[in-house]
Amino acid sequence: MAYRCFFCGKEIKEEHIKKKVRCIYCGSKIIFKERSVTTHVKAR
Ligand SMILES: [Zn+2]
Repeated sequence: MAYRCFFCGKEIKEEHIKKKVRCIYCGSKIIFKERSVTTHVKAR
């Protein structure tokens, strides 16, 4: 499962946010799960 930063748009590996949910590049705390296949956005 990959995540993506809301602000800088960089991909964040799950292992990077095990301890703290934060973008490792810009420090943003807003990140979302990335789905490569589906274009529909359905929050779970
Ligand atoms: Zn970021």
